[in-house]
Amino acid sequence: MEVGAVPVGLLSEDFDPTTVVETEPLAPLAAAEGNGKDIVLGRNVHTTCLEVTEPEANDEFTGDKEAYMASVLARYRKNLVERTKHHLGYPYNLDFDYGALGQLQHFSINNLGDPFIESNYGVHSRQFEVGVLDWFARLWEIEKNEYWGYITNCGTEGNLHGILVGREVLPDGILYASRESHYSVFKAARMYRMECVKVNCLITGEIDCADFKAKLASNKDKPAIINVNIGTTVKGAVDDLDLVIKTLEETGFTHDRFYIHCDGALFGLMMPFVKRAPKVSFKKPIGSVSVSGHKFVGCPMPCGVQITRMEHINVLSRNVEYLASRDATIMGSRNGHAPIFLWYTLNRKGYKGFQKEVQKCLRNAHYLKDRLQDAGVSAMLNELSSTVVFERPLDEEFVRRWQLACQGNIAHVVVMPNVTIDKLDDFLNELIEKRSTWYQEGNVKPPCVAADLGSENCACVLHKAKIYDE
Ligand SMILES: *Cc1c(COP(=O)(O)O)cnc(C)c1O
Repeated sequence: MEVGAVPVGLLSEDFDPTTVVETEPLAPLAAAEGNGKDIVLGRNVHTTCLEVTEPEANDEFTGDKEAYMASVLARYRKNLVERTKHHLGYPYNLDFDYGALGQLQHFSINNLGDPFIESNYGVHSRQFEVGVLDWFARLWEIEKNEYWGYITNCGTEGNLHGILVGREVLPDGILYASRESHYSVFKAARMYRMECVKVNCLITGEIDCADFKAKLASNKDKPAIINVNIGTTVKGAVDDLDLVIKTLEETGFTHDRFYIHCDGALFGLMMPFVKRAPKVSFKKPIGSVSVSGHKFVGCPMPCGVQITRMEHINVLSRNVEYLASRDATIMGSRNGHAPIFLWYTLNRKGYKGFQKEVQKCLRNAHYLKDRLQDAGVSAMLNELSSTVVFERPLDEEFVRRWQLACQGNIAHVVVMPNVTIDKLDDFLNELIEKRSTWYQEGNVKPPCVAADLGSENCACVLHKAKIYDE
């Protein structure tokens, strides 16, 4: 199941993902009025829900009911196949085959408590979890006896944990994060009631260290907790970790007065394989690193990895008699299946396998950017990134069909290992054809995105002439 592999094959061996799929119509847009860009708060949509129907009075499972449920699931599966095929906007690697792990669906695997301290609940997967953590510890250059970490439910949980550790180590610290940091960073600030200073970004989306320096200088009396982005959500920008550290040192912050959390949710597992990329390493004065497991790695359920220093975790943890373990995680019960999926992929691909996939993604991303620009579409691709940012397509149906993530006038495609040249060609051909009808009359024009992508990447009427001059 390599080409166009889909997660739905998990439970059944006879599933053929290449069978022709009748596409179900997309559900109507949630926002009935307007252009579909507005989210209507307080008005949840129930029209597409699958009602739960009570079993017959005699409590017996009737054949009709079984058949009904089977047909609902079969239709749902078809829909998943189709939606998987037309997915480009979110950084999820949808290409995997975990058929061998189907047998584990029968178990309630739970790693509640600390990964390194066995609790009394025996149906766990700590042996896999610690194996995975050791692999990441080696990747980020920290000795086995010097790190602590766990497998989280997602990248957000890693950020919530990293920032919490930072606050426990430096209780009166101010949180610094660039404006283009993931929303979970600002959520952490609200949850923990921390003072938070937003730092400006360069046009690439990287943190602007000149602004960072000025803001540090005016808050010298308080320690600094910094969120560094290893790949921002929208533009895929990588903050310059070395420059952030240098800025802190130059402003007079000694190592005991700052804590750096690296949010590597997106590129945490890609950067180590890009030669020119600034290295994320615990040999540098950083406090924690987190990454999402369902993004580049490709896991069928959300998960993530969080690694910090052993010395820090002791500040945070409490012993819990009921668990016979230690409480140092954000969540209580923890998904015990996720570590096995991660372990399985790390074993199959290994360092070399990821390296190859990263190279392929970067190549394909360049292909997409070049073809967009050749077609006169505003587009940008950061050097270390596989996130191609471009003008937002005019038509919301098109955006939804390809599941593009949008913000203001821009949209992006994140080129993950499952995004092939063929898929990009399908997308490009459709986009180019649609654009010729959207902008045919000339009274509607493609948006100017100079403010988002820089005038050199903007192909709007005003800036286009400049591109062709060069
Ligand atoms: C996706 C993402 C997150 C959050 O990860 P989830 O796994 O979706 O919770 C955090 N930071 C960045 C930069 C991301 O791209």
